[in-house]
Amino acid sequence: MECISVFDMLKIGIGPSSSHTLGPWRAAERWINHLKKNAVFKDITSVKVDLYGSLSLTGKGHATDLAVILGLSGEDPEYFPTEEIAQLIQKVTLDKKVQFGGLSSIFFDPKIAIVFNKEFLPFHPNGIKFTGFKNDIEISSDTYYSIGGGFVVREELMHSKENIEIHKHFPFPIQNAKELEYYCEQQHSMISEIVLKNELALKNDKEIDTQILKIWETMLESMFQGCHTEGTLPGGLNVRRRAFDMHQKLKSDLKYSTPDEWIEVIRKTEVKFRQILKWVSCFALSVNEVNASLGRVVTAPTNGSAGVIPAVLMYYMVIENHEANFKHIKQFLLVAGEIGSIFKKGATISAAMGGCQAEIGVSSAMAAGALTELLGGTPEQVLIASEIAMEHHLGLTCDPIAGLVQIPCIERNAMGAIKAINAAELALDADSNNAKVPLDKVIESMWKTAKDMNSKYKETSEGGLAVSVNISDC
Ligand code: SF4
Repeated sequence: MECISVFDMLKIGIGPSSSHTLGPWRAAERWINHLKKNAVFKDITSVKVDLYGSLSLTGKGHATDLAVILGLSGEDPEYFPTEEIAQLIQKVTLDKKVQFGGLSSIFFDPKIAIVFNKEFLPFHPNGIKFTGFKNDIEISSDTYYSIGGGFVVREELMHSKENIEIHKHFPFPIQNAKELEYYCEQQHSMISEIVLKNELALKNDKEIDTQILKIWETMLESMFQGCHTEGTLPGGLNVRRRAFDMHQKLKSDLKYSTPDEWIEVIRKTEVKFRQILKWVSCFALSVNEVNASLGRVVTAPTNGSAGVIPAVLMYYMVIENHEANFKHIKQFLLVAGEIGSIFKKGATISAAMGGCQAEIGVSSAMAAGALTELLGGTPEQVLIASEIAMEHHLGLTCDPIAGLVQIPCIERNAMGAIKAINAAELALDADSNNAKVPLDKVIESMWKTAKDMNSKYKETSEGGLAVSVNISDC
């Protein structure tokens, strides 16, 4: 049984992709730690990196090569200043040297050291192999898999003892929605209360609150930054940032200078249905525009879908409940994280395995459930909301144009957020005795659909919009 914390599902990182940027970055970090443990780190004089399958096919657009360089340089995606990325990459490219693990300078020419292999490795579509040489003689080689949401595994450690041991310590080990519902009923608790008790097995109260606050501040900062940044996104598609223009119209002559003041002034605006749609869309677009420009966002559960959860939480904060505070943010993120982990255990959160239903579909289900609890829904209604949100994303394919996380990705976050709010409202009026499709059944259907989906639609940019629309037309 897999042990997944809420903080595994919601991670601070750098865009544009959790599986193709954050995952390979973390894989490089993991490999370096492994070399250090085995005392071969200091012997390495050069490195080769092989990217396989989807990591190779959409790796350029998803900045996989840049992530690998940053990871080999020993930088941390949670803290590395995003404005310094271009400079570091340029230096490595010109010098043909990398500061390996941040410690020693070794030969590394990205043009020949990073190899894009079209073939897929059997275990997972996102394979990455690191090979270390001592004076041209291979002395170490390891293969990692980026399995979605920034999670990285080595095949042989997939079901490691360590994971199983931690899971045993959870007072409420949860594998699926049925078990979660059972614990809520048995303990007369809300979902967020059960999840919190599990998290307390890993961290103390203060640590949990600190991390939740950090996650929320990163979400808020990415929305604020996206709404106040004008221009065109990098990558060659010439996609204009839309959150800025939308926000200018929505905010009119409101005055504020910090993200917190921004929340307060939005609360004072008049909102009719159309404005609500626009505000929510604007929040979602803004995060994903920041993500597309290699900015800092919260992987929730992936980077491509990072805008859905902040947009729905912000909707609650500025439209639904003007008194909302940290307590509500915490409750929302605990529920969202748990729903995401159930999808990961029962299906996948990797677009390379399941298409966009695994990214936008899952984020929408996470947000729908979390919003439902904040709006007073029962645990059954929370699960119904998540089910409804996923039910209407089933079969959604992944076909990003030019392999960039821009079209259809950015707009898709706005759609996922709106569907989540709608799903919550439908669930709040639902009687669980009449619900025909349990959440576990929709997760099972999603997984079956993922397995049946043609590989062209699983983050390869070989089908759909990616081939119908030519980059030269953009
Ligand atoms: S289409 Fe969906 S799954 Fe594919 S990269 Fe874009 S957001 Fe991610």
